Amino acid sequence: MSKGRILIIEDNMDNHELIRFFLERDGYDTFLAMTGPEGLQAAIKQVPDLVLVDLALPIMDGWDVTRKIRENEKTARLPIVAVTARTMPIDRMRAIEAGCDEYIAKPIDFVALLGAVNRLMERTKRTRG
Ligand code: MN
Repeated sequence: MSKGRILIIEDNMDNHELIRFFLERDGYDTFLAMTGPEGLQAAIKQVPDLVLVDLALPIMDGWDVTRKIRENEKTARLPIVAVTARTMPIDRMRAIEAGCDEYIAKPIDFVALLGAVNRLMERTKRTRG
């Protein structure tokens, strides 16, 4: 049985393939969006269990995607994990301010990524009772 559906918003195919490999091996189903607007639309239409968002995305960046996900009542409470090469403290702060629950730096530590994802999925289960 699937542990949940995760939307990966990532424009770099190599990163996407790696992330997908680790998440699916851990029991998750994944689907992909490659631009900010595509990711936002997929989040609202398909309401995944969790969103992984790259912050540097074409057309609309990951901070704006996160804010818009938070503004929509269908998706306002989705767990969101930022995955980014932008690792200055200010970038982390902006990601959290935009509404991300967790922040994972690139190059990706997949143990940390799975830890964050599993932790947020557990939190969702508890909240739903
Ligand atoms: Mn990118």
